[in-house]
Order: sequence, then C-alpha cells, then structure tokens
Amino acid sequence: MLRCSTFVPAMAPASDKTPGFCRDCLAEQKGEARRCHACGSPRLVRHQELYDLTLAHIDCDAFYAAVEKRDNPELADKPVIIGGGKRGVVSTACYIARIHGVRSAMPMFKALEACPQAVVIRPDMEKYVAVGRQVRALMQELTPLVQPLSIDEAFLELGGTERLHHDPPARTLAKFARRVEKEIGITVSVGLSYCKFLAKVASDLQKPRGFSVIGREEAVAFLAPRPVTTIWGVGKAFAATLEADGIRTVGQLQQMEENDLMRRYGSIGQRLSRLSRGIDDREVHANDPAKSVSAETTFFDDISRYDDLVPILRNLSEKVSWRLKKSGIAGRTVVLKMKTADFKSRTRNRRLEDPTQLADKIFRTGLDLLEKETDGTKFRLIGIGVTDLGDAGRADPPDLIDRQSGRRAAAEAAMDKLRDKFGKGTVETGYTFGGKGNR
Ligand SMILES: [Mg+2]
Repeated sequence: MLRCSTFVPAMAPASDKTPGFCRDCLAEQKGEARRCHACGSPRLVRHQELYDLTLAHIDCDAFYAAVEKRDNPELADKPVIIGGGKRGVVSTACYIARIHGVRSAMPMFKALEACPQAVVIRPDMEKYVAVGRQVRALMQELTPLVQPLSIDEAFLELGGTERLHHDPPARTLAKFARRVEKEIGITVSVGLSYCKFLAKVASDLQKPRGFSVIGREEAVAFLAPRPVTTIWGVGKAFAATLEADGIRTVGQLQQMEENDLMRRYGSIGQRLSRLSRGIDDREVHANDPAKSVSAETTFFDDISRYDDLVPILRNLSEKVSWRLKKSGIAGRTVVLKMKTADFKSRTRNRRLEDPTQLADKIFRTGLDLLEKETDGTKFRLIGIGVTDLGDAGRADPPDLIDRQSGRRAAAEAAMDKLRDKFGKGTVETGYTFGGKGNR
C-alpha cells in the first residue's frame, strides 16, 4: 500500500501566505486551491518552510522495474517483477505488482502466488548501473554535495545553490524530477527536510512521483504517531524487542529520557532518543573519498610486550572512533597494522557483523588480532583503523546477546559528551590512563 494517505502535516493549514508551487508547470500558488491556477494540475506542493529547507533525499520509484518498462512499452500496464535467479527472491516489483501484494525480498514462488499474471524479468544489473549513473550525473548538476546511498537513491545538500539555479532548492528539485522523467524516462520521489533522517522518511511518503516536505515546526508531532520502525536502523527484530518493552510508537520514545534508553538498549538508545525528536546532525558528504579511517603511532623505543601495546591501541581506537563519529560514518572491517623492528609490515583484518563507530568495538577487535601477533617480536609501529565505510545509519545495533556491550556503549557515549564539553583530554579510560600511549 502507498502510505501517502497517512501524511497529515501538523502545521497550520495552508493559507494565502503559505508558499507553494505546481510541480508540473512550476507556477507559484497562493491560497488553498486544490489545482494549479495556471495548468489545472493537482500536483501542488505547499509548505510553510518550503523555501527554507535545503536537504533532500531522492529515490527512484521501483527502479529496476521502471527501467524495464521504459525499454519495453508493452509492459507499461502489466505487473512486472524483477527477480529470480539464484536467490529466487523479488528484487523490485512495479507498483501494479505491489497492489497485488508483491514485495521486495519476497520469495518468488510467493510473489507468483499473489500475482500469477506477473511478468518476471531477470535483473540486468549492467543496464541499471548505467541508468543509475545518468540519474546521478543530473543530481551532480544541482550540487556537488551528492551522497549516494545505493544505485538509485542519494542525499543532496542544496544549501547555497540558490544563486546558481536562480531558484530555491524546492523548485530546483521539482525541476530535476521533471527532467529525469523527460530525459531518462523513469520517475523519482523527493523528500525535502532539514535533516537526513526526515528527508529519507519524506521521500517515501507519496511514492511514486512524490514530493513531500517535513519542516522543523512539525517534526515532533509528525513523528509521534508513527511506528518505531520509522527510525533509521530499527528493523523487525529490534522493533520486537521494543514491543516487548511496551514501546510501539515514536511518540513513546519521545517521552523517555536518553539515559534510560541508552541503559536499556546501548548505543542505539541515543539514536532512538534523538531521531524520535527529529534531531539528526549528520551532514551530507559527497561521494566519501575516504576508503578507510585509521590512526597509527611510531614508538621511540621498540615495544614487544602485549601489556605495553594495549593502552596505545586503546588510544588509537578512540581517535579513529572520534573521527568516524564526527563524520557520521562507520566501518565494517577493523584493520590492525604493525611494523616490526626490522621494518616488516603486518596487517590483520576482521570483518564485523555490523558497521561500527565505537572505540570500544574497534579496540576489542584490534586486541583480539593483537594477541596473536605478540610473540616476542619487537614492533616499531602500531596502527588501527576501519574500512568498508558507509553511512552510520546502520551502525552498532543493540547487541541482544552481549548485554555488557550495551553498557559499554552507553559509557562511551557519556564520555563523548564530556569530551565534547571539556576537551579531548578530559576523560581517561582504564586502558589509556598512565599508559605509554602517544600523548
Ligand atoms: Mg528506489
């Protein structure tokens, strides 16, 4: 089902003063008319903050299916499923197939039970990648700050582009959507807001060909009645955990203390608390050039003892973590790098279950790797870092098995706060205090 019907802005109803325009002909709109005074189109967008908001999430509608329909007009009014192959699941279902109950990731046999008349097409990734690049190239004409999340969606920061485009971001985005339809032959949905989280929520509200705006004024009220799964990183499993604790809506999270949420759920508690209130200060990063984030140190005297290396490793892990947190990214693979006294390099990797930003996680993983290397060898350098970088949205989900890790994550967030307030040297952990770490 399309969820547009549930979108009721909590703000005052549109008045003569509410800015708005027509997404088809771009004529400015005044008053409360339901159709454009110039072209009669019902596709109007109106919002009190329309011309103040600059952060957008753009998502192609049923991307793979849309590309196939574009290339074969006979499919236009048929239910189309892209999928099959080895995993036997649905990659994308067009909106007609969705009406019949077909969903992404559904096993193919179930999808065909729901919609026996569907046309099934094997994915042609090469073609989709090429189309995805075309869409991205048009995005990059709008702003250099385009952060792709996948082949068919990206965040864009349009602050400061008004002079370039002679239009506020909202109108630039509407023009972009028209251009994609005309030049590439597929459709997109746009979410416009003041932060990544709500821009992404917004782009999903009126799919396909949507254009939704969520402003600062209405954020808290808008989020309150929604299910907890609205929050980035809360999947089915975690939603079930929350449900068991009696928490179903974002509004319930808004009522809870951040500390309480962190004590219960670990590092994700902080995310729950902030996002539930519409607080998200992650910035849009253009195609993150960084492939890894790391820190290393060379010793004055070679070191061979494990016990002497531990505090140094802790210190370096905290530096890496701090940089990840500041840039809103997370890494999935921890890399330990060492150089022996005779200049031989050793690198050891470990891939984690989930991406992380946590110093504690990076440190403990590094420690495991370090243990096997400290066999009396003298080292002149040690470094630790993470690769497989991505957005922090899915980093550090609550660890349901290891309760300790939740507590450590909460402690780490508390220390981060103190450091932010009083400077980096304020808080020493048991590992770095008195250690030989590089200071
Ligand atoms: Mg999409």
